[in-house]
Amino acid sequence: MVQLARLVEVAPQVWVATSRRYATTSTVVLDGAGGALVIDPAWDADELAAIPADLAALGVRCVAGFSTHRHHDHVLWHPDLGEVPRWASAGTVEAARTDRDAVVAPLQGDLPDELVALAARDMRPVEGEVLAWSGPTVVLHVHDAHAPAHAALELPEHGVLVAGDMLSDVELPMPDEADPDLSRYRNGLESLAEVVGRARILVPGHGSVGDRPDERLGADRRYLEEILERGESDDPRIGGAGMAQLHAANLRRAGVTA
Ligand SMILES: [Zn+2]
Repeated sequence: MVQLARLVEVAPQVWVATSRRYATTSTVVLDGAGGALVIDPAWDADELAAIPADLAALGVRCVAGFSTHRHHDHVLWHPDLGEVPRWASAGTVEAARTDRDAVVAPLQGDLPDELVALAARDMRPVEGEVLAWSGPTVVLHVHDAHAPAHAALELPEHGVLVAGDMLSDVELPMPDEADPDLSRYRNGLESLAEVVGRARILVPGHGSVGDRPDERLGADRRYLEEILERGESDDPRIGGAGMAQLHAANLRRAGVTA
């Protein structure tokens, strides 16, 4: 039995590490031939270093990376993961190219300089909807709900959906800044309904891995409907760390005045 520092197997060939910060998840997909795709490696220096160490313990090495979206905690990297293709949606790559300073600003002084220097660096756009790599099929589902050009990754052979910052059990729906009335968020959420319906395992960007993706979607739909129609919600996530502020912002977007 291999002792791993962080990775936990959640489906055959699919492993997840959960950070001490905001339960941020990193997902590893093995290609069955000694290679690994590393999605959203995060977050602290020791946690980032533990991912390639765990891969080595599994007898594999990173052959590709992927960032689900442009936020600072999803564009991290570690030198030991190597100089491999780091994929993202075209919109995320564009943001990393043209607006990198703003993307990595929250990391300055928080992570060692050499890790800040690697964040949001040398990213490549995925052509089409399927990732060109050595492992199982990875299908991108791009929408603008949480961030512009945010990509959820579906692994159809495994029934896994790596949702990025959507469908969390601990985080309320968190719309992009440029979504004054939640319409963009609702459109993005609904664009995922079909893939959620066929997924068996859900990996949110923050929170716990779940085996009822449909319930996560239902909870987000209910929350949004409640605040839009009644101006209030008893969603238990509201009481979670840091969620009161987000809830207040969502109420403003829903047109509720305090
Ligand atoms: Zn995010």
